[in-house]
Amino acid sequence: MTAASVRRVCCIGAGYVGGPTSAVMALKCPGIQFTVVDSDAGRIAAWNSAAALPIYEPGLDEVVRSQRGRNLWFSTDIDAAVAAADIVLLAVNTPLGPRGAGLGGATDLSAIEQCARTVARVARRPTIVVEKSTVPCGTGELIAGILRRDGRPGVGFSVLSNPEFLSEGTAVRDLLRPDRVIIGGLDGSEDAQRALASVYAHWVPQERIVTMGLWSAELAKLAANALLAQRVSSINSISAVCEAVGADIADVSRACGMDSRIGGRFLHASVGFGGSCFHKDIMGLVWLAESLGLHDVAEYWDQVLQMNSSQTARFVARIARAVGCDLDAGAEVAVLGFAYKAGTGDTRNTPAAPVCERLLAQGARLAIYDPKVPARQIRDALPAESHYHHRVRICSDAYEAVAGARAVVLLTPWPEFATLDWARVHGLMAQPAYVFDGHRALDAPALDRLGFRAVSVGVRTTH
Ligand code: NAD
Repeated sequence: MTAASVRRVCCIGAGYVGGPTSAVMALKCPGIQFTVVDSDAGRIAAWNSAAALPIYEPGLDEVVRSQRGRNLWFSTDIDAAVAAADIVLLAVNTPLGPRGAGLGGATDLSAIEQCARTVARVARRPTIVVEKSTVPCGTGELIAGILRRDGRPGVGFSVLSNPEFLSEGTAVRDLLRPDRVIIGGLDGSEDAQRALASVYAHWVPQERIVTMGLWSAELAKLAANALLAQRVSSINSISAVCEAVGADIADVSRACGMDSRIGGRFLHASVGFGGSCFHKDIMGLVWLAESLGLHDVAEYWDQVLQMNSSQTARFVARIARAVGCDLDAGAEVAVLGFAYKAGTGDTRNTPAAPVCERLLAQGARLAIYDPKVPARQIRDALPAESHYHHRVRICSDAYEAVAGARAVVLLTPWPEFATLDWARVHGLMAQPAYVFDGHRALDAPALDRLGFRAVSVGVRTTH
C-alpha cells in the first residue's frame, strides 16, 4: 500500500484510547474515513448520542461533535468496518491475566487475538494491522501468525506497533501535539510503516515520527510507563523520609527538578499512582523479565509497585494515628476526589479505592464526592461487603460531603478543591477538623490558620 492510498481506517475498541485517537485523526485527516467499532453496543450508542460521551476528556466533546457524521463514525458492525479498511487499529483492552505464583503477571491477549481472527476472516484486500493497545514484546508475531494461518489466500497483511502515549485528562492535547509517534515493524514492512506515517504527517512534524523494529516499539511503551511510575515511586519514597526528618518534599522536589539532568516533571509526591496502565504494564514488564530469567530486573521493577502500595498504606496510617479511636467509633470522613487523577472520570486502579477500603475497615463512615465520577462507578470500585455500603454516602458537592465530617481526605487534586471556601468548610465540620492532603494541592499553613489540623504528604506534622 502506498501512503496516498489510505482512504479508510477502522479502529477496534471505542475506549479511552480508540475514541479520542480516532476523533483527533479524523479532525486532522479530512480526506480519510474513520470508523470506530466496539462489541459494547452501549458504549457505541453513547459515542453516537447527543448527550454525554462515554468518557470524559477535556476538549473531546468539541472534536467528536465537529467530525461525527463527516469522516468519523461509531458502529457495532465490526466485520463491515474491518472489511472496508486499509488500516485496522487495535485499541482493545489488554488486562492482566490470572496471577501465577511468581512476580508480575502475564497480559491477557484474548481481545487482541479475537481481533486478529476477525481481520483474517473478513479482509479481502491488503490490510495493515496496527497494535495501538499496550502489549508484551512478541505480540506482533502472535497477530502475524493468526493472519497467516486464518487469512484468505492471496490477501497480504502487515503488522505494525504504534503504541499510544496519551495521558488521560490531557488526551486531546497529547494527541494533537505528541512528543513522538513510534511506528515499529519487521523487515519488509517499510511500505506499511510509510503508509501509517503518512496519516500522522497530516499534523505531526516529520522529526517526531520515528520508525524502528517491532520489538523495540512494543518494549518502548512498557519501558516509558515503567520509567514514569518509577519517578513517582522514587519521589514518594523521599516523601516518607521528609515526614520522618522534618524536611518538606515540595522543596526537595523543586531542588532536584531544577537540575536539568533530572527535570521537574513527574516529581510530585502523592498518595500514589493509579490508572489502568502503570500497574498492569509494570506487572507485564516484571513478568517478561522473569520469563527471560532476569530475576534481578524483575525484582527491581516490582519494587516500584511495592513502594506505591506502601505509600497508600502509610497515608491511611497517618489518618488513623491523627483521628485515632474516633474512626473506630464511626467518625465520618469526607473523601474529596475518587478519580485516579484530575481531568478524568477514570477510577481504574485509583488509590482512592484502597484508601476508602482501609478507612471503612477501621470503622469510619465515608461521604465521597468527585466532580466527574458517577455515584454507581464509585460504589462499584468499593468493597462489596454489605455492611460497608450503608456507611458510604455519595455526595453531589464538596460542602455536602464535609458537613459533620471529622476529617477531609483529598485524594484527587481537582482544581475546584483548592478554591473551596475553606472557612465555610471548617464551620460545617465536627471539631477538631482535620484535612489530609494526598497531593499537596492545598495551602496547609492557611488551613492551620483557619483552625484546621492540616496534614500533607511529604511534611512532618505534630497533629
Ligand atoms: P478501554 O477499556 O477504555 O477500551 C477498550 C474497548 O475495547 C472497550 O470498549 C471494549 O468493549 C472493546 N473491546 C474489547 N474486546 C473487543 C473485541 N474483541 N471486539 C471489539 N471491541 C472490543 O481501554 P483503553 O483505556 O482504551 O485501553 C486500550 C489499550 O490501550 C490497552 O492496551 C491500554 O493498556 C492501552 N493504553 C491505554 C491508555 C489510557 O490512558 N487509557 C494509554 C495508552 C495505552
